[in-house]
This record gives sequence, structure tokens and C-alpha cells, in this order.
Amino acid sequence: MKFGSVCSGPSKAGRPAIDLRGQRFGRLLVIERTANHARVDRPTWLCQCDCGAEVTLYGGALRSGRNKSCGCLRRDRAGQLYRKHGKSKTPEYVMFYDARKRAQRFGLPFDITPEDIFIPSHCPVLRMPLDGATRDSVPSLDRFLPDQGYVRGNVRVISFRANRLKSDATATEIAAVLAYMKGQI
Ligand SMILES: [Zn+2]
Repeated sequence: MKFGSVCSGPSKAGRPAIDLRGQRFGRLLVIERTANHARVDRPTWLCQCDCGAEVTLYGGALRSGRNKSCGCLRRDRAGQLYRKHGKSKTPEYVMFYDARKRAQRFGLPFDITPEDIFIPSHCPVLRMPLDGATRDSVPSLDRFLPDQGYVRGNVRVISFRANRLKSDATATEIAAVLAYMKGQI
């Protein structure tokens, strides 16, 4: 459907709306029309932001150019603070930025800053150098308790291999796997 054509969408919307599906507004890509707000009868759209977050916005707000992101644009500008502190292209900052994207995508708690990330020379679990010579030796930000997200005290940099082996396993599960590997089960 091209811009300007009319669709009623899947919602119980009171009136037809200009179809914005597939249109891009800054970082936002319009996915589909959603049900109008209970009290405000205005066409509402589900949008996917480039950062991975999903937001619903009024068509008017999109077309006026008021909303060009899920809010990450403003946060990124605030993030230039970090760049001024010389943390911009460092591995810690890249790790921080990737973690923030994952947190937004999967709805995980997130309150760390780049300063909370420390990349040691060796994996604290497997003792191998974290030199990135192989995929396994790439430093990887682990959530100690995965559900608790990227919060201070719950993140630690270990090797990609150690992180992959741990995955989302509990200590009890790992102990059972170890017993199995030792032929005890
Ligand atoms: Zn965003």
C-alpha cells in the first residue's frame, strides 16, 4: 500500500487512518496499526526502533517529526558524556553499548555505565588470555544471574567460551552435567 492510501487496520479503530506501514521516520520503522488508546481516538502505530525497542506512537507524532526514535536518540546524545570522558571507542564502551541494545530488545534491567565494565587480561573462569585470537577467547559480558539483567554487581567479563558453556544454566544444573561427564551418573 502506498503512502496516503487508507486502511482500517486490525484494530477496532473508529476511523480509517493514513497507512504508515513500512514507512521510516528517523530510527523508527512502522510495523502495523495497533488498537487506539482507550480514551484518545487517534490512529496508533507499532514501530520498531533501530536499537531493537518497540514503541507505539500516534501517527500525527510520527508524521510531524516529533518522534524519530524510541527515546534512544536522546539517550545517545546524553551518552556523548561518556565519549567526552574518553570512553568512546574503547572495548568497554562497545561492550556497554551492545549490552544496552540487548537489554532494550529483551526487556532486561539495565543500570550500568561503561565504568562498571572491566576487561581482565585472562578469563577468570578458564584462565585463557582474552585476546580475541579465536571466537572462544573474545571477552564477553556475563550476567551472573541472567534474569537480573545488566545491573551493577551482576555483570562480569569472562571468555565467550565460558559464557557459552554457562549459558543460562543454574549451578545445580552445571553440577549435574559435571557428574555426568565424570561418569557418575
Ligand atoms: Zn531506539
